[in-house]
Amino acid sequence: MTNPLLKYYRIPKLYVKLPSNGDYYPDGFLDTSLNGELPVYPLTVKDQILLKTPDALFNGESLLNVIKNCVPGITDPKLLVEPDIKQLVLAIRVASSGATLEFTSACPKCHTSHNFDVNISHMTETFVDSVPDNTVNLDDQLIVHLRPYNFIQRHLQILNELEESKIIKMVEARQDLDENGKAVELGKHVDSMADRTLSLMALSVESVTIVSTSESVTDPKYIEDFIKGITPNQANVIMDKVRELNAQGPDLTSRFHCDNCGHEWDQMLDVDPTSFFG
Ligand SMILES: [Zn+2]
Repeated sequence: MTNPLLKYYRIPKLYVKLPSNGDYYPDGFLDTSLNGELPVYPLTVKDQILLKTPDALFNGESLLNVIKNCVPGITDPKLLVEPDIKQLVLAIRVASSGATLEFTSACPKCHTSHNFDVNISHMTETFVDSVPDNTVNLDDQLIVHLRPYNFIQRHLQILNELEESKIIKMVEARQDLDENGKAVELGKHVDSMADRTLSLMALSVESVTIVSTSESVTDPKYIEDFIKGITPNQANVIMDKVRELNAQGPDLTSRFHCDNCGHEWDQMLDVDPTSFFG
């Protein structure tokens, strides 16, 4: 028999577009029956409990599950890129608790603390509709095609950071070493740290085109080996572009006004899931 409670189940509260326009995903990634718009459902109580866990690693996993649950039109959320993650976090917040976000901030000039009500529902429509150029040119020889960080990279980045702080703590705690000995010991780990950072970066490279032959290299192993041998200058060019791509998506800045001294300032909302869903 059909569950008689079925018609009391959650219904979608709003429909949003993805800032990436689906460009970075494999075919069939998006189930968009409504002209490119995805239905967004409100959080369940279970979602809310998952999101309140302060552990960064666990929290990333929770957000992944919450997106699966609230935006079922996305078949494989771990491939979602940063601008789209921001957009969906915003949309799920609007679908669950409405358009107003209460926000406490101190005036940067007179330091008076204020409570503000920020309307966040319009923010889901603030992204620039055209996807930016995602290529960089390395010394006129290679064209590197990039994409923003996705969930898999977010997770790896947290793991890297945990690993690094563990190593530093371990070395700092060594009673048998003086400052110089500690520096030498840390130096032994620098190589593997750099390797992990570069592997993370390599995951943002979709392909590399060789200008002289127009050959396009897409094999992830070839790409990773290549990235591990690039110069610091080339690495900076690539990372600057990846950061630019990560920063796309909804505009999360709001303008605030201080009643005490009249000062006005812009501030970006923090959409970190532990605090953002309240
Ligand atoms: Zn003020």
